[in-house]
Amino acid sequence: MRNHDAAAGPMGLEEAVKLLKRETLPLGRVQSVPLPEALGRTLAERVFATHDQPPFPRSPLDGYAVIGEDTDGAAAESPVTLKVIAEVDAGDVFADTLQPGEAVRIMTGAPVPNGANAVIRQENTDYGEDQVRLYRSVRPWQNYVFQGEDYKEGHLLVRPGACLDASTIAVLASLGLESVTVVQRPRALVISTGSELQHPGEPLKPGRIYDSNLFMLQAQLKDWGVDVAEAICCQDDPALVEDYIRSRQEEVDLIFTTGGVSVGKRDIMHEVFRDLKVEKMIGGLAIKPGSAVLCGKYRGKWLLALSGNPYASFVGLQLLARPILCGLTGNDALKMVYVNAALADSYDKASPLRRFVRAYLQEGLVYLEGHTGGNGDVASGLHINALLDIPAGTKAMEAGSRASVWLL
Ligand code: AMP
Ligand code: MG
Repeated sequence: MRNHDAAAGPMGLEEAVKLLKRETLPLGRVQSVPLPEALGRTLAERVFATHDQPPFPRSPLDGYAVIGEDTDGAAAESPVTLKVIAEVDAGDVFADTLQPGEAVRIMTGAPVPNGANAVIRQENTDYGEDQVRLYRSVRPWQNYVFQGEDYKEGHLLVRPGACLDASTIAVLASLGLESVTVVQRPRALVISTGSELQHPGEPLKPGRIYDSNLFMLQAQLKDWGVDVAEAICCQDDPALVEDYIRSRQEEVDLIFTTGGVSVGKRDIMHEVFRDLKVEKMIGGLAIKPGSAVLCGKYRGKWLLALSGNPYASFVGLQLLARPILCGLTGNDALKMVYVNAALADSYDKASPLRRFVRAYLQEGLVYLEGHTGGNGDVASGLHINALLDIPAGTKAMEAGSRASVWLL
């Protein structure tokens, strides 16, 4: 059941996130992409190992494959001598079986010959070619990489929802896959509203500011794997915004706006929600910044109307769009990650409401200096990698106090 009562007043963040998750269904559209183009995409299939890795017992170093027991007692003063019967390079295979008293010169990555159960590092030998003197012993299975030690055939290696980063792509490549099934990118419409907003490239007119939210939103959404179908900057005219939303909604999966959500005369998004009969589910959040926010569904698609204040729109996007996009795509990488860390700087304001402060986390310390500007500031958002999450009712915080930090 939808909580329409909650839409009337500010909602707690946890409740809002729960609601967004509950009301978001997976898009369910998938596509196949070649591995070199899979970076950042969300896996849509289960990937099982189709062979053992490594597919054969392997030498982890350059040396001599031996029978470990043959080397017992070998030392600098009492070397053991073995007969070198062959050499096997990476990519080669030694077809025979090693017998007691024998060694095979072997390179890193080459299959350990049958009969051998260890590899002695070449630095512990005289590098002999027909015969080799060993100055150290090796135990059976020492320097021996077992077949399937990395992964075994049939093993579930990667689950749907995995973000295809370099390490995951390496695993898929090790299976010999050429392409992979990923979730299609959700498509978004982005609209910034404000009659004071000016396009880039034009000289700034009196009373105007350049539109930064439109570009922040596009960049962030793109970074999260969203295809921004269209980004429009719009005057404070509800009819215009309504027209854009009505005419473009069919091509997209979700809609973002910024500006016009608080209580001024020109806060047009309330009117837009009314006129378009948007099913409003969130009518404000009990957080700072970003308390002024409207969120609902228009023709079954999320419409998230964020504040125009640059930092408030950033926070709103982080907190509300991530759970929606997680639900639409299953992308695990969009889940917020918390860490506990100590403040490097004090934070002097009291926080009657739960508050998010721009921060830079490094080596367990949370730096706030340079980031504590107002909600209308953009430059305070330079060089941040985290948001300090201050619980409601917290007084000023001293440097050294422990705090919860969300990694961006
Ligand atoms: P609003 O939410 O429309 O009341 O706007 C709040 C503040 O954010 C005002 O100072 C606006 O000028 C500013 N603002 C609104 N939209 C943008 C935008 N797209 N880029 C930068 N600043 C904005
Ligand atoms: Mg405005």
